Parts: sequence; C-alpha cells; structure tokens
Amino acid sequence: MNVTELARRLKMTTKELLELLPELGFDIGRRAIKIDSRLVDKIISAVESHRKKQRLAQAEKKVKEIKLHDDEQQSDREPSEKVIKIPEIIIVKDLAEKMGLPVTKVIAELMKNGVMSSLNERIDFTTASIIGEDLGFKVEHMSEEESQSLAEATTHQKLKDILAQNKTDHLIDRAPVVVVMGHVDHGKTKLLDAIRKTNIIDQEAGGITQHIGAYQVIKQDKLITFLDTPGHEAFKSMRSRGSKIADVAIIVVAADDGLKPQTLEVIDLIQKENIPFVVAINKIDKEGADVDRVKKELSEINLIPEDWGGKVVCASISAKEGKGIEDLLDMVLLVADLEELKSDATVPAVGTIIEAHVDKSTGPLATVLVQAGTLKIGDLVIVGQVTGKIRVLQDWSGQEVSEAGPSMPVKIIGLKETPQVGDILEVTEDKKKIKELSKRSGYKKEERVAGVKSQAASESADDSAEALNLNLVLKSDVLGSQEAILEALAHYDDPEVKLNVIKKGLGNVTDADVLDAQSAGGLVVAFHVKNLPSAEELARDKGVKILYFEIIYKLLEDIEARLKQLLKPEVIRTQLGKMQVLAIFKTEKKAQIVGGKILEGKVRSATKVKVLRGGEVIAIGDLTELRSGKEIVDEMVEGGEAGLKFVGEPIIAENDTLEIYQEETKERAIKKT
Ligand code: GDP
Repeated sequence: MNVTELARRLKMTTKELLELLPELGFDIGRRAIKIDSRLVDKIISAVESHRKKQRLAQAEKKVKEIKLHDDEQQSDREPSEKVIKIPEIIIVKDLAEKMGLPVTKVIAELMKNGVMSSLNERIDFTTASIIGEDLGFKVEHMSEEESQSLAEATTHQKLKDILAQNKTDHLIDRAPVVVVMGHVDHGKTKLLDAIRKTNIIDQEAGGITQHIGAYQVIKQDKLITFLDTPGHEAFKSMRSRGSKIADVAIIVVAADDGLKPQTLEVIDLIQKENIPFVVAINKIDKEGADVDRVKKELSEINLIPEDWGGKVVCASISAKEGKGIEDLLDMVLLVADLEELKSDATVPAVGTIIEAHVDKSTGPLATVLVQAGTLKIGDLVIVGQVTGKIRVLQDWSGQEVSEAGPSMPVKIIGLKETPQVGDILEVTEDKKKIKELSKRSGYKKEERVAGVKSQAASESADDSAEALNLNLVLKSDVLGSQEAILEALAHYDDPEVKLNVIKKGLGNVTDADVLDAQSAGGLVVAFHVKNLPSAEELARDKGVKILYFEIIYKLLEDIEARLKQLLKPEVIRTQLGKMQVLAIFKTEKKAQIVGGKILEGKVRSATKVKVLRGGEVIAIGDLTELRSGKEIVDEMVEGGEAGLKFVGEPIIAENDTLEIYQEETKERAIKKT
C-alpha cells in the first residue's frame, strides 16, 4: 500500500506518518513510498493506541492544571472556609475588613460582577455573599438583633466620635431633647399634643404647625425639644435610634391600666441607655384611675417614686384635660438640669436625621436634629450616601430660619436624595468628597439602549388576571439607586394594574435573574448595570426582556408606559343613528349586504352596528361599506335609503332595526399616590 494512502486513512499527512512510524517501532525508512501490506493493520492499530495514550496524557495534564490552580486559589484565600456574618446591608470597606482583605480586592471583585463601588458604598447581603464566596468565605446572615445592635453601635459610635471633636472652650447650654415613650394607647400622642398646644414658642405661629418629627416649647424661659414620634412603628424606630439622641425620656403610664409589657420594655431600654426619665401617670381624669397602684407597680420593679422615699420622679397628669402638664415640664427641666447639657455651636454642624420623605414639588425633605454646631443656609452637607447644599431651613412651625443651633429640629431642603432616618448629617467643606459622592448617586448619563422600549410588557393587554401584573426583577449598580427606584415605583398604585418587584439586587444581570423573571412572566430592569453574556443569550432563548437604563426618570417613564398598556383602555361609544332593514341583498358566511331606510340621525361607514329584533340585541358587527344606490359614500342622513355591508353573524332579517354607533378607545392614566 502507498504511504500516502495509509496516511490519508489515518487522517494525517505523509510526513507526520513517516516521522511517527520509527517512534512506534516500525523501521520503514523516512523516504519510503510503499508499505508492506502485512504491516498496514499493525501500523493502524499502533497509531490508534498511540493517539489514545496521547489523549489520556492530555486529560491528565488538564486535571493536574486545574488542581494546581485550585490549590493556588486556596492558598490565596487563606484562611480557607472562614465564616463571616454580615447584616442585610454592609459598607464595602467593612466587608473587606471582615474578610481581612484589602478593600481594593473587594472592589475589584465587585467590578467583575458589574457593581461599581467605592469603599464607602453600601451593598446588600446577596451581593456581599456572592463576592464573599468568590473570595473563599462562607457568608452567613446576621440575625435581625445582631444587625440592629451593629447598626446602632456604628451610628452611635460615629456620632460620639464627631461630638468628641467639639472644642470644650466654646461649650454653651443647649435644650434637652425629650422623647415620650410608653405602652400603646396610654396617651403619648395626646400628651405631645397637649404640650404643643399649651407651650408653643410663638402663639401666632402655632396655627400653622407642621409635622416634622419634632417641635420645641418654651418653659421658664428655657427651650425643650420634643421628639414627636407617636405610634407603634415610630416607637420601634425610636427604640433603635431615638433613645440615643434623647436626653430625657417621659414614660407615659395610663393610671387606669398600669405597667404593661411595652412599658417594661421601654423602662429596660432607657435604663440600659442610661437616659434619665420622668414617669407621667396619665388619664387621672378617668374613672378607675389609680395613681397609687401605678406607683406600687413601679416600686415592685425597684423604681421607687420620690414621694415614697425613692428617686423616681412621677407626675400625675391628664393629657386630655391638660392637667399637670406644666408640672411635668418643670420636672423634665429639673431632670435635664442635672445632665449639664452643653454643646459647641461654633463648629460645622452635626446632627441626626429624624424624619425623611420625598415631597412631590420640593423633592427630598428631611428633618435633622442638630446636635452640635450651627447648620446654616448654603452649608454643604453629607448624610450617609446623600449629599446636598442647604437651600431652605424651616423650624417646626413652618417659619424659615437662616440657621439652626444645637438641639434644634429643623426641616431641610436641598438634599439630592432622601436620606434614612437615623443617618448622621455632617457639614463639610470637602467639595471633592461631595462631588465624588454625588457623581455616584446621580442619574445623569444617557440611556444606553433605548430600542427595547417599544417592546411592551404584555404586547397587548389581554383579559387574564396575570396580564394585570407587571413583574420586575430589578438590578442596579448601587443600593442608593435601588432604593430611589423602589421608592419611586411604590407611587404607582393603580387598583387595576399592579407593579411587583419580585426580586432586587445589585450587579450585572445573571442567568438566575432571567429565570426568575421568566417564571414570573415578567422582565428584567437593569439600571447602570450590564448583563452576563450567558444571561443575554438565555433571555433571548426564554423570551425574557432585559431593559437597560441609565437615567431614573427614563426607567419610570418606560415602566409607566408598560403599566398603561396593561390597563384596559376606556371605550367611548357615540350613538349615530338608526335604520330599518327593508331588504337583504346578499348573505355570506360572515357578512351580509342589506338595504334600508335611515329612521333617525346618520349612518357612516367604518362604524359599529347593533342588530335589534323585538327590542333585543341579536348581533353586533361592523359597518364596512355604505352605498347610496350604486355609489359608495361615507355618510348618509335621516330619511335616506342606504345599502350597507355588515360584517358579523349574518342573521339580519327584514324589519330588524340597526343601531349605528361609533366606538373610540381612550388611553387611561395610571393612578399614583
Ligand atoms: P398613644 O397610643 O400612647 O399615642 O395613645 P393616644 O395619645 O393615641 O391615646 C389613646 C387614647 O387614650 C385616645 O383615645 C385618647 O383620647 C385617650 N387619652 C389619652 N390621654 C388621655 C387622658 O388623659 N384622659 C382620658 N380620659 N383619655 C386619654
């Protein structure tokens, strides 16, 4: 056999074969042209077994390489399998610290996942756990209690650190900040109202009070600041935040109800925080009120009232009738005096956000309780991740002020986004820092892919219940934008179409996001993030849309348009005229040509027709062609005789009445709060 022929069979070149043969132990010479036919089979099987060996060797090498790589990574991520516990939200540098890794490494890992972050960026648990696991850590969720105490400790420490920097030689007296706490329904709100009514600073301004989360009253020429957070939810947040900013607590106990579980909880908390307090025994006007019983209950938990020989200051009041309020305030001042509350008003202001929301016309609004320094109009401020320049300051009575000193609650306008209650506000002159932070939280870039916009959520609104839900998976680059988007989306509140964010997260769009969107019959909204190539492919396969946005209002516009498409449009029907059928000219499968007399109004083509017999509607169809004699016309009026083509169920008979009307659909607006 020719060498070339054998080489072809073995799918190799002649040269390769001739070079290989000596290696396999066949000595036929490098220039051989023919091979002994007895050798051919042997050569073939030898070459094949050689190839097999080669393949095995290659596979082994690969396995070794992978192992080596893994080992390298393992040593890279020492100590291996380290478990870290993190809260729902963590700052990048804290995550790095927890892992004992340079923050740059964590930032780089985040970038790989499409999360552009700086060291002060907040990320959510899911993102942190993905990053953590990529870096070789087992990431566990902190319990709610653990997270809360961590958050408190961090905020509290930060504030303490800032306040500690205050210079002692400028210290001045400041108003006590008072919080009212107690069991639900024991009269906290009523008491706050009673105090506000009887002791406002400026009687005239009293009429226009607004709720900003705190107010101030004057007593014995001294100011007292009250944190005004009634209600159970607010109580909870006061527990985690407020008690730290309050100097004195008023514990309200209803005289007809006594100490209740929440009262005990509050007492426990206040004692732990070492906050001085006054007990207001309320509702003394009520039948069944028993002040002594309350005092006895207090004594039983080792809180002995002053008049019983102990140290606990008690005031008997009726918030409803305004009784005992003045005495209570005197006592609050007495207790506060012992605290020697002082602050430096000359330094750049520091405070805590006690209320925040977005106002439709003014934008982000927040109330800050200034704790040190003086906040002035024009100040540049940083509040957590939010920046701003103070444009307007308003006191609790709605009056504009130019500055706010220590212990003053003040409403601020000028923040770029809504901060979180409990965040610390700092005045800064560090323009660079402000710029850097605002760059991250702004939404100024152009929308990247606008084309997807025209693809509607459900393409056409159908009648099924699911069609009235718009389900979204929201992915964004930073938590700030996620929060802003969620807050804005929450305003869509239409009873007919519901917007559900079924999943939210930071970073690039992943396969899992696409699958989650698919199973909910929804879409993926990517804000400032890209997709993993596999996710794009999967989305195409599964018919899931991924919408990309770089500007928040474009995102909202798009979502609103999609919601609108889900809303069934409003149908407006206008009656045009009536006609009596006199003759049936032609009947087809789905149409008829009929003639008749116009009894009233007018008849127009391209309209709807209701067929009535004996006063009942027997069919509805379309009038597609109108004729006067042989001529096609657009419209005919009362008295005329017309021929028309009716498209619909062909059951029209002589003497039936046709009602001609026009139908228009009108897009409806989505309801918002
Ligand atoms: P909160 O849940 O602690 O804020 O309690 P509220 O201030 O809302 O009061 C609960 C209920 O107790 C309301 O119906 C009040 O009108 C009533 N209330 C509050 N203070 C008094 C009081 O001094 N006397 C009487 N008779 N009722 C009061």
